[in-house]
Amino acid sequence: MDADSRASQQIDLADAVRVMERCEALARHSEELGRLTRRFATPALAAAAGEVAAWMRAVGMSVRRDNVGNLIGRYEAASATGAIDGEPPRPRTLLLGSHLDSVRDAGRYDGPLGVLVALAVIKRLHAQARRLPLAIEIVAFADEEGLRYGTSYLGSKAVAGAFDPILLQRVSDDGVRMDEAIRAAGGDPAAIPADARSRDDLVGYCEAHIEQGPVLEAEGLPVGIVSAIAGQSRFTVTFEGTAGHAGTVPMALRHDALCAAAEFVLAVEALARDTPGLVATVGQLAVEPGASNVIPGRAVLSLDVRHQDDTTRLQFCDQLRATVGRIVVDRGVADRWDTVQEDNATPCDPALGGALGQAIASLGLPVRRLPSGAGHDGVVLAALCPVAMLFVRCRGGVSHHPAESVTVEDVAVAVQALARFVENLAGAEPTTAVER
Ligand SMILES: [Zn+2]
Repeated sequence: MDADSRASQQIDLADAVRVMERCEALARHSEELGRLTRRFATPALAAAAGEVAAWMRAVGMSVRRDNVGNLIGRYEAASATGAIDGEPPRPRTLLLGSHLDSVRDAGRYDGPLGVLVALAVIKRLHAQARRLPLAIEIVAFADEEGLRYGTSYLGSKAVAGAFDPILLQRVSDDGVRMDEAIRAAGGDPAAIPADARSRDDLVGYCEAHIEQGPVLEAEGLPVGIVSAIAGQSRFTVTFEGTAGHAGTVPMALRHDALCAAAEFVLAVEALARDTPGLVATVGQLAVEPGASNVIPGRAVLSLDVRHQDDTTRLQFCDQLRATVGRIVVDRGVADRWDTVQEDNATPCDPALGGALGQAIASLGLPVRRLPSGAGHDGVVLAALCPVAMLFVRCRGGVSHHPAESVTVEDVAVAVQALARFVENLAGAEPTTAVER
């Protein structure tokens, strides 16, 4: 029997079916006809949040909205009992969740799946009239993708107290300043800093999310644990050669900027293949003057490098700089190397990851740890509290596309794993009052 059927044998699919139906229902809240696009602080996002709020209330959660627009449902802890001297210990809070905003022409699972899997866990507790020694909050973040303002993680930055008010002056592609958009959506931009959470209250944050890659599918596993969210370096690399007539300049006398760039692109690929766990991509290439009968005088390319270990990533980038240096000498061209972005890796918390591993193992499944090459709200929240992530297999590793696909069986495993994870953490909390 393979791991899939072992797990599905002991798992009830009803909760997962409902999660799938709700992902579908939320996909109908879009800014665009015929495709799913849900940007920050738009009526479409408010409509999706409104629907989730009703589902939260139905399972005994109190619901509020913070000023940046995150929707927060709280499932209260059991009242602490048995304190002998002084104040009863105050129950702490575990954050679960994901984001409700999307990219343009999105799939239906990136974001909503994490919110709805968490909601299914609360539904089980509510159905048993159970309260735990910790409170659970589901946060449906208002902006993770950053589509509207070109800056991601607005929602989690507000929660982590890392929201920079200068962002409020940004203007979206449709001409709305961010502070106006937030006001129109019912928030008070000036009050965002006061929404920051206190670290003392928090046990941690755990997010279920589609993998967005093909590893779990290739290994036949329904879920995995994120070991770290990869660090990322982004550069713009420019090669300056000499433009010339395609018919009159002999090959030996050319300084072709595009040939230099081409050599570099292939060197990036070869070096990345030799570095385990590293991914590097040249996704943009602009050639000037860009005529069929002119030798390219300039080539500008983008370079994106990611790895879960910062030292490995930085060493790789140094190697690439040395490669550029060799290419420009060989070819008699010049180069410019501009850093666009430099983000360190975010390691996930070993204790939370351990509790998640126990939960998965208790379902009879192998515990697979893998890095996330994509960014998530955990990058921001890691400065506030321990973070963990549960990856769910998705077909072909496809994301940010309408073809995003997960199976109901895998979602059932995710619900079960997250539920046991919550139990594991609740068992470790100091107060033990449980009302039935
Ligand atoms: Zn996402």
